Amino acid sequence: MQKIAKTTVTRLINRSFSVSAAQKVSYQNGYNFELNDTQKEIQAVARKFTREEIAPVAAHFDKTGEYPIEILKKAWSLGLLNSHIPEFCGGLEQGVFDACLVGEEFAWGCTGIGTVLGSSSLGQVPVIIAGTKEQQKKYLGRLIEEPLVSAYCVTEPGTGSDVNGVKTKAEKKGDEYILNGQKMWITNGGVANWYFVLARTNPDPKCSPAKAFTGFIVDRDTPGVTPGRKEMNMGQRASDTRGITFEDVRVPKENVLLGEGAGFKIAMGAFDKTRPPVACGATGLAQRCLDEATKYSLERKTFGVPIAHHQAVAFMLADMAIGVETARLSWMKGAWEVDNGIRNSYSASIAKCYAGDVANKCASDAVQVFGGAGFNSEYPVEKLMRDAKIYQIYEGTTQIQKIVISRSVIDATKRLA
Ligand SMILES: Cc1cc2nc3c(=O)[nH]c(=O)nc-3n(C[C@H](O)[C@H](O)[C@H](O)COP(=O)(O)OP(=O)(O)OC[C@H]3O[C@@H](n4cnc5c(N)ncnc54)[C@H](O)[C@@H]3O)c2cc1C
Repeated sequence: MQKIAKTTVTRLINRSFSVSAAQKVSYQNGYNFELNDTQKEIQAVARKFTREEIAPVAAHFDKTGEYPIEILKKAWSLGLLNSHIPEFCGGLEQGVFDACLVGEEFAWGCTGIGTVLGSSSLGQVPVIIAGTKEQQKKYLGRLIEEPLVSAYCVTEPGTGSDVNGVKTKAEKKGDEYILNGQKMWITNGGVANWYFVLARTNPDPKCSPAKAFTGFIVDRDTPGVTPGRKEMNMGQRASDTRGITFEDVRVPKENVLLGEGAGFKIAMGAFDKTRPPVACGATGLAQRCLDEATKYSLERKTFGVPIAHHQAVAFMLADMAIGVETARLSWMKGAWEVDNGIRNSYSASIAKCYAGDVANKCASDAVQVFGGAGFNSEYPVEKLMRDAKIYQIYEGTTQIQKIVISRSVIDATKRLA
């Protein structure tokens, strides 16, 4: 592979950051569907990395479930990870939009490996939005110094969608909190250097969620932290998903984010910055489905012509293209809004929900275009269909996104009444 110098990427990304800031003025003058030159270059670097480093080994990591640490190290050394970490911590302080451009490319190659490369942000965002300068320097800075990752620990065996049901508790004893409980389905659970952990600090069941929970940064090597076995999931099998047990884990009070009782707001607020990146992953997968299906439909012949010439097949390609284009626009809007300081919970949920559904429809249609070969693991689309499903589940299920979206619509209408 032709080496991509880190300095080149850093220069490109730095330039992109300043150009993005300057562009706010032109955005305010109206819609703009054009990437700037630097964003195109970042996208090209990520695309080249994906084509050369991710796509060729995707099937291997899917079959073995190995964690692709060497790919992570290479992407890290090229400056393709952690781009949103503040400058004073050594990062590039890029926006969500530019990170999504990279994420969509990774996802085209393999969303399992893409999740490995991108999911650390979910652990980082609570520290970015709610951490003190000291916490940020210590924990985000660490991820810039070494190719380490973080994780976001909210879900538990007994509760996922209903975050108010979190049972992990933290009791204050002197200058420490003692953490006890169990988390489940934690991405990077076994490989993270530190975790964002949501725990209940107010035992009163009548206490509102907005005050009952606290967010903590917990070092992986703290005694009492025990990740479970790696889960064997339907798809995205390169990604490391585990349960984690916290048993009498002593967390210094310096590791509380924002203050006791602020955890729910932090855990939920993070989604404004992390749902567009999930949507961009789903879009990358959908694009891959379209590309694979189109290529195959031009090679495979039935009744004397390539199957692309049968209108029923061509229309499946058209439907996939409609989905890809509109899913891309939806993540772009969600990412652009949050980068420009506009409240985006509504658009981020639309993007996450819509792109997740598009990915699943495109994957199912791609299997259909491949016929029998689509059902077979020697061909690429069977993996795409398994990988797609999670986009309707993690980071808030499709149904939970629809609750957020419908509430926004109803509240807005009530305000007008
Ligand atoms: C591979 C993987 C990686 C993950 N990574 C992480 C991670 O890094 N960190 C983390 O904290 N969590 C993670 N999760 C957890 C994930 O976010 C949850 O699985 C998800 O939020 C759903 O929660 P649940 O599994 O408990 O399902 P439940 O909440 O039990 O939901 C079951 C079903 O009921 C529906 N439902 C629930 N409530 C309602 C309602 N009010 N109205 C309508 N329908 C409803 C849901 O949509 C779903 O279809 C991961 C999960 C997986 C599988």
